[in-house]
Amino acid sequence: MTFGRLLLWACSLAGLGFSLAAAWFGPPALWIVAAVFLAYWAVIFVGVFVPRLGMYARVYCEAPAADRQVALTFDDGPHPHTTSAVLDILDRHEAVATFFVVGHKVDKYPEVVREIVARGHALGLHGYRHDRLFALKPPADVADDIEQTRAAVERACGVRPRLFRAPIGFVSPRTAAGAGRAQAPLVGWSVRAYDGRAGVSSQSVVRRIEAGLRSGAIVLLHDAAEREDFTPAAVEALPRILEAIQRRGLTTVTVDQLLGFDTAPADATSEGSSRALGERALLHGDEPGKSLDAS
Ligand SMILES: [Zn+2]
Repeated sequence: MTFGRLLLWACSLAGLGFSLAAAWFGPPALWIVAAVFLAYWAVIFVGVFVPRLGMYARVYCEAPAADRQVALTFDDGPHPHTTSAVLDILDRHEAVATFFVVGHKVDKYPEVVREIVARGHALGLHGYRHDRLFALKPPADVADDIEQTRAAVERACGVRPRLFRAPIGFVSPRTAAGAGRAQAPLVGWSVRAYDGRAGVSSQSVVRRIEAGLRSGAIVLLHDAAEREDFTPAAVEALPRILEAIQRRGLTTVTVDQLLGFDTAPADATSEGSSRALGERALLHGDEPGKSLDAS
C-alpha cells in the first residue's frame, strides 16, 4: 500500500472516530467541526495535487532500483520545430527519451510522431486536448480521452502507447479510475524544471534538473509549449542536462525500460498489460495489475 493510500485510510478512520465521539459525548464546538472538515478535505486535495503520494492510484515517479539509469520525458508535443530540435540534440548525445504526446497535435503533425519512433524513442499519452480541468472529468471521459489519444498515435505511426501522464499532472480519484479502465499505468516525475511556462531561463532549468539527477530519476521537460506560442527553455538547456547525465555516469533509457516494464508495443488493451510490470516495479512492492486498479 502506498503512503498516500495509508494516509487516506488513517484520516478516514480518524474522521469516523470523531463522528462516533460526537454522537456519544455530544456535539463539539462548531469551530472544531469546521476545522476537522477542512483538514479532511485538505488531505483529499493534497492527494490530487501530489500524485507521487499514490493516494488514488500508483503513480510511477522514479525507480530507485535502476542501475545508473534515468528516463528523460518530454511533454506537450509534438511540434515540427521544437520537437525536431530536441530529437537532433538527443541524437548528438546518443540519448533516448519518452515523449508524452498530446492527441490533437499528433493528428496535426503525424510526421513528427513517426520521426520520434524512427529515431528510437518511446511514446506515452498526455491527453487529447491537454484539458486543464482534466482532473474533474468523469472516469468514462478520462478513459475515452486516453483511447482517443492512443488511436491518434496508432494512426500516425502504428504504435499503441500504454503509459499515461495526466495533463497538468494532477491525479484525482476520477483520473485514477479512468486510467484504470483504459489500462494505462500513470507516470509522474521525480524532478521537473517548470519549463512548460514562458519566460523560464535555461540556467534555472539546468539547475533544477541537476539537483534531482540521480539513478532512477524520471525527468520532466517539455518539447513544445502547450499553446505552441514559445520555445520551452528545455530545448536550450538540453545539451547541458545531457552533459551532466554523462558526467555523473548515468545513461538514458525510456520510462518502460527504467521501470522494467515489458516494452512490447500494442498490447495496451490485451490481458498482457497487467503482466507487463517488471522486476523493478515489483522491487518497489507493487503488485502486477494492482497499479491499474482504479480504487
Ligand atoms: Zn502537459
